[in-house]
Amino acid sequence: MPDMSDPTPAAFPSYTSGTSTTPMLGDTIGANLERTVATFPEREVLVSCSQGLRYTYREFNDAVDEVARGLLGIGIDAGDRVGIWAPNCAEWMLVQYATAKIGSVLVNINPAYRTHELAYVVRQSGLRLLVAAESFKTSDYRAMVGEVSGDCPGLERTIFLDTPDWAELLSAGREVTGDVLVERMASFSADDPINIQYTSGTTGFPKGATLSHHNILNNAFFVGELCRYTEEDRIGVPVPFYHCFGMVMGNLAATSHGSCVVIPAPAFDPVATLEAVAKERCTSLYGVPTMFIAELAAPGFESYDLSSLRTGIMAGAPCPVEVMKRVVNDMGMREVTICYGMTETSPVSTQTRADDDLDRRVSTVGRVHPHVEIKIVDPGSGLTVPRGTAGELCTRGYSVMLGYWEEPDRTAEAIDPAGWMHTGDLATMDSEGYLNIVGRIKDMVIRGGENIYPREIEEFLFTHPDVADVSVVGVPDLRFGEELCAWVKVHPGKTLSADDLRAYCRGRLAHYKVPRYVRFVDEFPMTITGKIQKFRMREVSVDEFGLQAAAESRSA
Ligand code: AMP
Repeated sequence: MPDMSDPTPAAFPSYTSGTSTTPMLGDTIGANLERTVATFPEREVLVSCSQGLRYTYREFNDAVDEVARGLLGIGIDAGDRVGIWAPNCAEWMLVQYATAKIGSVLVNINPAYRTHELAYVVRQSGLRLLVAAESFKTSDYRAMVGEVSGDCPGLERTIFLDTPDWAELLSAGREVTGDVLVERMASFSADDPINIQYTSGTTGFPKGATLSHHNILNNAFFVGELCRYTEEDRIGVPVPFYHCFGMVMGNLAATSHGSCVVIPAPAFDPVATLEAVAKERCTSLYGVPTMFIAELAAPGFESYDLSSLRTGIMAGAPCPVEVMKRVVNDMGMREVTICYGMTETSPVSTQTRADDDLDRRVSTVGRVHPHVEIKIVDPGSGLTVPRGTAGELCTRGYSVMLGYWEEPDRTAEAIDPAGWMHTGDLATMDSEGYLNIVGRIKDMVIRGGENIYPREIEEFLFTHPDVADVSVVGVPDLRFGEELCAWVKVHPGKTLSADDLRAYCRGRLAHYKVPRYVRFVDEFPMTITGKIQKFRMREVSVDEFGLQAAAESRSA
């Protein structure tokens, strides 16, 4: 053991493991749900505001069993892949737990996908059955399924929600007795795969992170523990269910604690979210940073009674300190936590704790999760760096996925022989084990030999009172290799020039960190899970600022 009594903090390696006196759960997801149902049968588990639906745990479990028996009735076996392609709705959650009860593998399909991506995931996962919405906004899911079905011979059937298909599924289960379901539930292990979540790679086809009951149930349980959830909690979930933020940190965290999930709307809508919090007396609210920014800027924000809010989670992308402060002060989320993680790690690896001091709660991604290990390594040598030095964050433990579905090579690139998942994120760990995410490895900017972490510049620009949102990328430059380019959204009614912004930086930031290019925008190119598509920002900036020659010389 090193002598921790007189540490030179920098001498300690950037490694920590999460201790806990709370044991992990050994249940399957179905068994865990039934345990909660037995404890809190009459408490609410689900409210879907736009559908006007509410379920107690007892009602929900009955409805889940009905769907599960329907799936058994149409011949779905344990291990079969069943897809769900729909915006947030009660049926999404019913299918999630019904597939878990019969041991089939739920394949989450992003509602923003179009035919090319749909056909890929249907074929790659070997989907037998798809449950889909008919349409939502501009998405005609029925037409898209029709278009790809000829290329997807393995897909035997599609059940469209809100059509007679759903009733047919339920009636297929009428002949299936409860005993058959009980027998099926006892036939598989918590370590079996139960979920495939396709990750939004920016290059190549998406990869199907394959997760077990044990992976996601435990991660959800500990997320809920750190939010101090009980049967009194009501969690507003405006984040999409197809992503782990919704279906793991939302649904499974709730059902492993007897809490309630409140779905404000099928897709994110700031006003519907504020209304749902006020009307349903939510105690917790989730969101990626841009969602909270939109809620804080929503017309009539002050008129919503948000006094029921105690906690919540901001995650999925860098959480700006200024936004966190407003969430605490203006939304009353005094115990709000930040989670950091990725789909491949179930997802959460670090989280701030309710009793961390405010500064740490708003400016770090917290400490390692219970029963998880993390370390930070030099991406070149793979060796653990000293505390305080930036490097690639790696995670090991129960939460690391089983692998990418049927892609052993891509799995081996991500998980090393010692079991560490290499995240591709750059982070630092301080002497007390608090983490900061400084960027993605591929987003780090090297200007004239100086490493620049866009996150640092973004946090600084956020302190300008007129800046509503900001994102920084590196763009090619013939002289320095790369230069900084900031995309800035200003608050309504404010005007700001590039020179104003640069003047604000001068004297406060080292000269090489002052953005050479500034672009004022209304929107950023985003994925629907709140991640800014920095590669798109780079492409647009190269065009706008005429940097093609530099771009070509870099790729030559
Ligand atoms: P996904 O697999 O879609 O959940 O995306 C995971 C990625 O989101 C991570 O590898 C990070 O780059 C980013 N991310 C998630 N949470 C945070 C956070 N709290 N701060 C910064 N980046 C985050």
